[in-house]
Amino acid sequence: MQAIYLADLHVHSSYAISTARDITIPALAQWARCKGIQLLATGDFTHPAWRAHVRDLVRPAAGDLFTYADTHFILGAELSCVFRHGGKTRRLHLLVYVPSFAVVEKICAFLDRAGAKLAGDGRPTISLHARELTSAILELEPRSLVIPAHAWTPWYALFGSKSGFAALDECFGDLAPAIPALETGLSSDPAMNWRVPDADGRSIVSFSDAHSPRNLGREATAFYGPMTFDGLAAALRTEGIAYTLEYYPEEGKYHATGHRACNVRYLPADTNARGTVCPVCGRPLTVGVLERVEALATRPEFALVADERGFLHGPDGRPPFRHVVPLAQILAEALGVGERTKTVSRVYTALTTAIGSEFGVLLDAPVADIADVAGERVADGIRRMRRGDVAVEPGYDGRYGAVRLWPDET
Ligand SMILES: [Zn+2]
Ligand SMILES: [Zn+2]
Repeated sequence: MQAIYLADLHVHSSYAISTARDITIPALAQWARCKGIQLLATGDFTHPAWRAHVRDLVRPAAGDLFTYADTHFILGAELSCVFRHGGKTRRLHLLVYVPSFAVVEKICAFLDRAGAKLAGDGRPTISLHARELTSAILELEPRSLVIPAHAWTPWYALFGSKSGFAALDECFGDLAPAIPALETGLSSDPAMNWRVPDADGRSIVSFSDAHSPRNLGREATAFYGPMTFDGLAAALRTEGIAYTLEYYPEEGKYHATGHRACNVRYLPADTNARGTVCPVCGRPLTVGVLERVEALATRPEFALVADERGFLHGPDGRPPFRHVVPLAQILAEALGVGERTKTVSRVYTALTTAIGSEFGVLLDAPVADIADVAGERVADGIRRMRRGDVAVEPGYDGRYGAVRLWPDET
């Protein structure tokens, strides 16, 4: 059997806009261990203060990675490109990974010269065409990895309905083959992505985009092969993925189409019947991920087959995936309390300590062992989650959807 490691490579620091204040390398490492994740991205390597913090705390490890306590780190950042193309303003986020601090310094110097305000936002805005930026990064270090982030979200994504592209070629031109992967984002899952030709021959990866340490791993990818920078690059280029763990895509905050302020939510059947203009305010609706995938898809939905662990298998050669609900969310619903309560935190700690990690609890631990620690009700919640026996109300226009394990109890 090949070695497998679980990775979450879309992470932010406290210096990125709208993130929590308590993000530190020790906090990230502690939560990664608790979740069962072996490799994290540092996030935000372009931010000088965060970079100094990372540099102070991590130690170099084999294969151009770094460690803190039990957790491995890869140098990673998210860049927000805003540029004109084809007479339209385009906005898209790119995930970038590099093998050394020396390369980080070169990229930061380049971005600085390009006028980016790196000390402002941990996810800096770069006024360069995504193709030019990718080309510059690959020229500075050919081993660098560039992956379009949350590829489908309306406002800041490669395929986004508001300011994105219809195809990878259209954006990256001759550099399209250098893009090894697409990140699903919370509002889509691999099966949705497989319907689009640009996903052929590319890895479909899932990461958390966590804005606080406790949200690490709400999506994650299990890679095959050696846990090194080049091992990861090879896995990305050959779809060397054992599986991905996914949010229910309906739970993502841009899954359906709609207007949050007007309380209008449309699924594709609604937009087919009524179009994409808001019946309340008359402005265009925010076209969601489901609609956008439908627009760019060239093939119908795949029939998925679930295995005994609840992993969904699609076409030959594509890695399986499964939907998971974060443990704190399951506990909150099972125990009838808020997610951030002491009760949830106590049971969460008891379970993850007894079983070893959150993913151990969610995916593999015998339900009887869960019942012993947390009671029958929690065990039943895990059983329902594993069977996919959940009701999901779709999110739209920036509002998260809601997953219910006991939809009949209100
Ligand atoms: Zn982003
Ligand atoms: Zn409206």
